[in-house]
Amino acid sequence: MFAPPRPDPSLPPVRVNLYSDTQTKPSAGMKEAMMRAEVGDEQYGTDPTVHALCDRMAALLGKEAAMFLPSGTMCNQVAILTHCRAGDEVLAHERAHIITSEGGGGAALTGVMVTGLRGERGQFDADTLRAAFRAKSRYAPAQTLVEVEQTSNQGSGSVWPLEKLNAVAEAAHAQGMATHMDGARLMNAVVAAGVPAREMSAGMDSVWLDFTKGLGAPLGAVLCGSEAFIDAAWRWKQRLGGSMRQGGLCAAACLYALDHNVDRLAEDHENARLLARGLAQIDGLAVDEPETNLVFFDTIGAGITAEELAARVRREGLAISVTTQFRARACTHLDVDRAGIEQAVAIVRQALAAEQR
Ligand SMILES: *Cc1c(COP(=O)(O)O)cnc(C)c1O
Repeated sequence: MFAPPRPDPSLPPVRVNLYSDTQTKPSAGMKEAMMRAEVGDEQYGTDPTVHALCDRMAALLGKEAAMFLPSGTMCNQVAILTHCRAGDEVLAHERAHIITSEGGGGAALTGVMVTGLRGERGQFDADTLRAAFRAKSRYAPAQTLVEVEQTSNQGSGSVWPLEKLNAVAEAAHAQGMATHMDGARLMNAVVAAGVPAREMSAGMDSVWLDFTKGLGAPLGAVLCGSEAFIDAAWRWKQRLGGSMRQGGLCAAACLYALDHNVDRLAEDHENARLLARGLAQIDGLAVDEPETNLVFFDTIGAGITAEELAARVRREGLAISVTTQFRARACTHLDVDRAGIEQAVAIVRQALAAEQR
């Protein structure tokens, strides 16, 4: 029940994969960079390529220090462990990844309670945050951390505007709370908004970027913060088994991604708009306006569940993902080109035409 299913051999191969940008494969150039990587012992502090990646990320995100971890989920969990203690309260959007998709890690590992805040497109404003503040007393949990997601995954890949981020950070700090940014797709936000990464993370005490989404690396995420924060976080990295050995192999892929796969995210955003326009022309589908590379759409008007639509298009070689009963997600990335998008629209149209017969 918890193990992912193996591929079903009765299905044709996937021709257009819009399931997730996590399914991007390392390119030939990236693999070559990995082959050439100078490596050492990451846990022992002697892997030069991991150091190069961490230095570059700290500079990019405007923080003192950085730490290489295997995944974004571990970045979130290490950050919560470092900022909070058992019984503390974390404030995040009600559809944040730390609530929906990390196995209750905040509660299981740190012992925090995470309270979900409301707001359009996966975002909340400073007033909503302030309304969730509790008067300090021995009755109330200590509120220690505010978390934001840039871009917001379940918020249709929306980009938090800089002013909103800064206002939220200011309100949190005024209340004595720390701020953490889940920047799984931070570079998508940077490219879409034309705002430098360090400005977007300026109000954040900790921030991380995932290399396994649209950046196309096989493994790795980098968590950044003050020297004291990263120093304390190393204890948790070690405890959780996140310390690596010849991690430079993967850090080299991440450095390659920073050089080659950031600016091109604009193409993914263009393809997402093309996909949204195509899907919106199909009867019964209600499509969210994409801001980055995620296209969410509702299938209820077509009289079909998202699950059924996903199963039908999968039989024609198109992979999409299912969010809720009548909501699906299609995600553009570096392994899908414009022709693939056009094919995807045609396959969905065909699948729904069959519905109407
Ligand atoms: C994918 C994702 C994560 C988790 O990252 P992994 O590297 O898959 O563990 C966290 N937050 C958001 C918003 C994500 O989309």
